[in-house]
Amino acid sequence: MGTKGREIIGMDIEELLALLNSAFADEWLAYYQYWIGALIVRGPMRAAAVAELTEHAADELRHAQMLAERIVQLGGTPVTDPADWNKAANCAYLNPANPYIKAIVGQGIDGERCAIEAYTRLMKATEGKDPITYQIALSILQDEVEHEDDLQALLEDLQEMEQRR
Ligand code: FE
Ligand code: FE
Ligand code: MG
Repeated sequence: MGTKGREIIGMDIEELLALLNSAFADEWLAYYQYWIGALIVRGPMRAAAVAELTEHAADELRHAQMLAERIVQLGGTPVTDPADWNKAANCAYLNPANPYIKAIVGQGIDGERCAIEAYTRLMKATEGKDPITYQIALSILQDEVEHEDDLQALLEDLQEMEQRR
């Protein structure tokens, strides 16, 4: 990367790249979890869930792009083999083996909670050291907080509907 751009980073670049690659792997796993979930989800309020899951999938893919661009800018290489995603990730892939809407949405909420913790950690690690990565982590964190809130609201609607029956 540019000489001055590298100079202003007040932390070990390899350590920074490892943190960015973990987040990058998280985003691909989250993208796929939402993408496949939107296709297979079944149950009440299916259309609302499909819309939310599809929107979140697009956001996670955009996050992967943001992280990959920063990795490349820093002179690193984003994880090139999907077989390495689980190993590099902060958050586990939650296989939507049960297509029932409450299971899929519940796994999404668990994933978002892990993502919120991971981006909070990335912000702490880069605060005052790499303002660019800090800003990227903050921007992604804002989306993950919104994702958790959207899915929790959907789950609450589902629970309310069940109680009325
Ligand atoms: Fe994300
Ligand atoms: Fe998310
Ligand atoms: Mg949403």
